[in-house]
Amino acid sequence: MNNCIFCKIINREIPAYIIYEDDDVLAFLDIEPISKGHTLIIPKKHYQNLTETSDELIMKMGVINKKIALNILNKLKPQGLNYLINQEAIAGQVIFHYHQHIIPKYDAKNGLTINQNIINNDSYNLETIKKEICIK
Ligand code: 5GP
Ligand code: ZN
Repeated sequence: MNNCIFCKIINREIPAYIIYEDDDVLAFLDIEPISKGHTLIIPKKHYQNLTETSDELIMKMGVINKKIALNILNKLKPQGLNYLINQEAIAGQVIFHYHQHIIPKYDAKNGLTINQNIINNDSYNLETIKKEICIK
């Protein structure tokens, strides 16, 4: 993709602090980190989001996710991690090249803070929704 920032990072057209690389996957530090060690993991082939990405790559990225997460836990010693994937602008996606965030959590007030809007269950029938989205 011509104008994709992450493709440019893959092609070394713009710099990044790369922490992992193999034939299919790259991981580098986020330029605007939410916390120390905030990392982005991307496929080298351009896909817009998770649901467009091949199953094979998603499985491979899952294993690399774990490897990078363990390394961050061992070296930077956060108390926890948030794994984040945004899909579409409404959900916060800014770069439309599939990426997974790993965001170390060092204390409750810093790092990623999630504002959950719990919906009213009376007007929202879980049994109906289960029927709608159940995969059998
Ligand atoms: P999104 O909101 O799309 O899930 O996340 C995109 C992430 O990419 C943001 O956290 C943003 O800081 C990061 N980012 C945007 N441009 C660059 C860049 O040029 N280099 C690096 N390393 N990260 C970037
Ligand atoms: Zn791209």
